[in-house]
Amino acid sequence: MKTNKPTQPNQNKFSRRDFVRTAAAAGLGATALTGMESAPAEAAQGVSQVPKHWDREADVVIIGAGATGLPAAIEAIENGASVIIVDANTDVGGHAIVSGGNIALGGGSARQQKYGVKDSPDLLFSDLTDWSVVEPNGFPDYRYNDKEIIRAFADNSGATCDWLVAHGVVFVDKTPDNAGAHATGNSAPRENHAAPMQWPQMQTGVPIAPNKQATTSAGIGFVRPMEAAARKLGAQILLQHRMTSIVRENQNSWRVLGITATNNGKTLSIRAKKAVIISTGGHSSNVNFRRIFDPRLTEEYQTMGEAYSTRDASGEIAGMAIGASLWGAYNQTGEFGEALSKAGRIGSREGYVNLGWMPASPVFSRAGATGLRVADWQNVILVNQAGLRFFDETKGQYPTANNYGAIKPYVAGSYLNAANIKYDPANFLNAALAGTGEATNGGGPIWAIFDADAAKREGWNTTPPDVDTSNGFFFSGNSIEELAQNIVNKYQRKPMPPAALQDTVTKYNSYVDAGNDPDFGKPAPKYKIQAPPFHAAWSTPVVHDSRAGLRINGKCEVIDLNGNAIPGLYCGGESAGGFSIHGIARCAVQGRIAGREAAKLAPYALTKG
Ligand SMILES: Cc1cc2nc3c(=O)[nH]c(=O)nc-3n(C[C@H](O)[C@H](O)[C@H](O)COP(=O)(O)OP(=O)(O)OC[C@H]3O[C@@H](n4cnc5c(N)ncnc54)[C@H](O)[C@@H]3O)c2cc1C
Repeated sequence: MKTNKPTQPNQNKFSRRDFVRTAAAAGLGATALTGMESAPAEAAQGVSQVPKHWDREADVVIIGAGATGLPAAIEAIENGASVIIVDANTDVGGHAIVSGGNIALGGGSARQQKYGVKDSPDLLFSDLTDWSVVEPNGFPDYRYNDKEIIRAFADNSGATCDWLVAHGVVFVDKTPDNAGAHATGNSAPRENHAAPMQWPQMQTGVPIAPNKQATTSAGIGFVRPMEAAARKLGAQILLQHRMTSIVRENQNSWRVLGITATNNGKTLSIRAKKAVIISTGGHSSNVNFRRIFDPRLTEEYQTMGEAYSTRDASGEIAGMAIGASLWGAYNQTGEFGEALSKAGRIGSREGYVNLGWMPASPVFSRAGATGLRVADWQNVILVNQAGLRFFDETKGQYPTANNYGAIKPYVAGSYLNAANIKYDPANFLNAALAGTGEATNGGGPIWAIFDADAAKREGWNTTPPDVDTSNGFFFSGNSIEELAQNIVNKYQRKPMPPAALQDTVTKYNSYVDAGNDPDFGKPAPKYKIQAPPFHAAWSTPVVHDSRAGLRINGKCEVIDLNGNAIPGLYCGGESAGGFSIHGIARCAVQGRIAGREAAKLAPYALTKG
């Protein structure tokens, strides 16, 4: 006998077979759906047969123990559900564990009230849905946010801030501010900062100095308290368990029943009596998947945080295989925030300016090097794979998105907001991704070229572990031509022509003499590149956020291609679409909503099969 049968969604409009057919017609092909090598083949094939035997069971099964999954677990348990979390990694935390721990929760939190900051759910909602707010390049931050999703966020934001404190997160004791903010809204400061306290940081392997533990911001200060609370409440956390598919009763209809996961080469079936929550962190390291949104993002673009945990779109692919829709694609392609970042650490794979991997990190071998942090872009020139400069090196990246006080005066919903912004279309990243004229997508590697004097000025050590010579992310030579010849990197599509690099350097040195850069307008080029040895350091833009993903509603239920909720399936954080904000805040809020809603469901018993 079946119990608690949900209303059968309308299956007549768009079936899974239609989806696969449409994807094929759109040229996605098998590789687009299977994703990169590490994406689970079973999920990609959409295999979700109901198993004859379940190895484990809980009311709620959560995929991913990061910024979304851990709060989801706590909330589900506190609402009466038993919980299993699977995580592919050897430890919890996902990208959140290496994050800056700047958490943009506002809307009238107790912390905001304590410091006299005026905010409310309505103000937060108005900020994050204001069509009239645009960046200097004309891109609107909030116009394409899904209002139902933002309303749910606004209504739960302040309470989530207070809830984090109640569950052990220590925030730095100061007024909420803008530090680390991306698209957090114009009307109030909303960033809170999780103090790392005594926990060793994943990126350094050691705790922060005792005198700074309560005054610095770091993601470990959010993750470890969440982990401790979840474990204390009885969440079973199964590490090194990679979800490979989501099991739905009838492939594209009825209820979600559980998942399959691999552990040490074995496949397990884990039953979810109430619901499955997808919190796998998005798609940014799955080259084929991310290229759905931006065809330029070919394999040379590395993903920051990848040395610790991967974001291979496995949650999205498994959801799509049982009928889920994608949502809010504009938010992935809009040129604001940090979907993509200029490399601020050169000579290492990841290159993200705010993530310094240190040799004592347990995952340092995967990071490869600490990287050389660039203090003054006058010390390098940036060239593409053809050895040619392409932009003013001192220029930044996309605007980091509108925050408190970014537009002055700001009038909610007024087109005059745009009139108050000085238009500036200059964009370093677009120039880097443009390539060198060939009929291939993506721009190829970008190299920072500098000499021994620049290294001295910056205080750089040009040997490992500061730079990654063994994986082809750093090269040296005694002449510019020799340097070009030495560049051998798997993403360099053709050898860099030595004469071209020599010409570039000669021309640049003449611009230093002349005091101006007629090609790209670098302000008063300062230093010649003339003292051997010369160096080429990987400086290719790095992929950051996933801001589009599975379609959800305000309850974080996953929605199918017909607009119906998939019974028993929830999603939040970077695997979900419809919300352009960066980071932990939306993850924690949506995790809580998903956990709460999932726990409310009645257990579902299947007797078929
Ligand atoms: C260097 C850096 C700095 C950042 N700084 C900030 C900041 O200051 N403030 C801020 O708000 N945000 C910051 N962020 C972003 C923030 O960390 C992320 O937005 C957030 O962690 C995303 O949460 P999530 O739950 O979606 O994914 P994650 O936290 O990445 O968690 C996803 C989890 O899912 C697991 N997983 C994936 N696939 C599977 C599978 N198939 N089976 C089982 N498990 C799987 C992963 O191992 C991982 O543990 C930063 C990120 C980085 C990398």
